Amino acid sequence: MILLGLGANLPGRAGAPADTLDFAVACMRAAGITVARRSSWVASTPWGVLGQPAFVNGVVAIEAHVPPEALLTRCQRIERLAGRRRGRRWGARVLDIDILDWHGVIRRGCSRLILPHPEIAARAFVLEPLREIAPRWHHPLNGLTPVQMLNRVRAREGRVSGPAGSAVG
Ligand code: AMP
Repeated sequence: MILLGLGANLPGRAGAPADTLDFAVACMRAAGITVARRSSWVASTPWGVLGQPAFVNGVVAIEAHVPPEALLTRCQRIERLAGRRRGRRWGARVLDIDILDWHGVIRRGCSRLILPHPEIAARAFVLEPLREIAPRWHHPLNGLTPVQMLNRVRAREGRVSGPAGSAVG
């Protein structure tokens, strides 16, 4: 299974963030990528950098017969088509596409591609849509399902701050 995480919090060529995620799915299909499942698009509070617009996030399960680096290149092309300019890390962006999992492959170290994506287990805005479309998926490193990781995140958030998130599409 290949899982991609999508996020947007600035308007782009396709319109508002939720429109941008729809546009990204359409671009994937146009590029020969089979989008087998698509989660709801969910609004969430910004991560990392405060004082920026809310994000809209979602996850898709795809089939693509290309190596992960080539898939990343295609995803980055779609980001640019949507109007993304490279900005600061975790800052506002028109579209962000992350490869969450590529067939369970584990890749760490100096590669420009880290697999599975290193932040999955800490991000409720990824785990919520993952739970929706891939409830039985297991994280290749920690072996946990989305719900199990969500429970851990919620337990931590309960000690620090409240969760946020609502469906937008
Ligand atoms: P950002 O768009 O800010 O999330 O960061 C994109 C950069 O993260 C890319 O240039 C990739 O080289 C790097 N990266 C490392 N692992 C991944 C991954 N699993 N999915 C997407 N980008 C990744």
